[in-house]
Amino acid sequence: MFSPTVQRLIDELSKLPGVGPKTAQRLTFHLLKLTPEDALPLAQALIDVKETVRFCTRCFNLTEAELCDVCLDPRRDATTICVVEEPGDIISIERTHEYRGSYHVLGGALSPLDGVGPAKLRLAELFERVRSGEIREVIVATNPNMAGEATALFIAEELRSLVDSSTLRITRPAAGLPMGGDLEYADEVTLGRALTGRREI
Ligand code: ZN
Repeated sequence: MFSPTVQRLIDELSKLPGVGPKTAQRLTFHLLKLTPEDALPLAQALIDVKETVRFCTRCFNLTEAELCDVCLDPRRDATTICVVEEPGDIISIERTHEYRGSYHVLGGALSPLDGVGPAKLRLAELFERVRSGEIREVIVATNPNMAGEATALFIAEELRSLVDSSTLRITRPAAGLPMGGDLEYADEVTLGRALTGRREI
């Protein structure tokens, strides 16, 4: 129905989360109407972000340098690590202004049915950080849903077998977060309160 070039753009756009074939088609027609000066900055922004943005080598947050802004900030407490699923969760937690430690981004949550086992996440890197650094607390702030809870339990068990539990607190943000949801949808007051009232797991 469409020329191969147009079809290719529709196909690429429909791979984006939340974009079905209908929306992809509408976006494509919109882009086709634009002048090159109006349409090409989108392509260039995509190229630039893929060429310059990468993962922090310590915590796997997004960064344009080797280490992210949080890891580079000497005022942050490096003895506490808050474990999150995605870089976007860091933004949600930072907005609460309740946390001044460091982070570790897993890149997802354990979900055996979807083929996501421990090796697919940055768990080995987390355990290495805890083993080799002077870490006093690990806050497991994975999402309050089934995959997030399973991931939190897995991390707690592994950490307990790795390090002396008298020197390391393993905690999870308190109840109050909407069950089954994502951190990014929690409002900052609720999330801030959940962080302050975290409990041992
Ligand atoms: Zn970092």
